[in-house]
Amino acid sequence: MILLTRKADFSAAHYYWNDRWTPEENARVFGKCANRNGHGHNYTLEVTVAGEVDPVSGFVVDLKALKDILEREVVSVYDHRHLNLEVAEFKETIPTTENIAIAIWKRLEGKIAGAKLHRVRVYEMPDLFADYLGEEGGEG
Ligand SMILES: [Zn+2]
Repeated sequence: MILLTRKADFSAAHYYWNDRWTPEENARVFGKCANRNGHGHNYTLEVTVAGEVDPVSGFVVDLKALKDILEREVVSVYDHRHLNLEVAEFKETIPTTENIAIAIWKRLEGKIAGAKLHRVRVYEMPDLFADYLGEEGGEG
């Protein structure tokens, strides 16, 4: 088994807000991130797939196909969008780095022919990222 990672970038706006809390509680927990006009990040996505090297092609997956899937399923949906306001999965779910990683996993799961989705890593900033390994947590 070998791991292969493909990167993609997108820029998006978000804010952090829990409707069940008062504005004061949101401000206390989320600080400046609770500003409902939002703020932006340049996100970097790393998608790692696991599989076997094809003895003929030398590849785990078709790299062009993987790039196209990331573009279609994630970048074209998230890039230059306000995640809270424009992306369905964040209408009810706060678009933290962690939740974005989980949402991207759900978008990609089962769509990568010939390999298993192994890890979704989302960088919100160069020094902050979240990893999601699926519900199995990377077992098996
Ligand atoms: Zn932010």
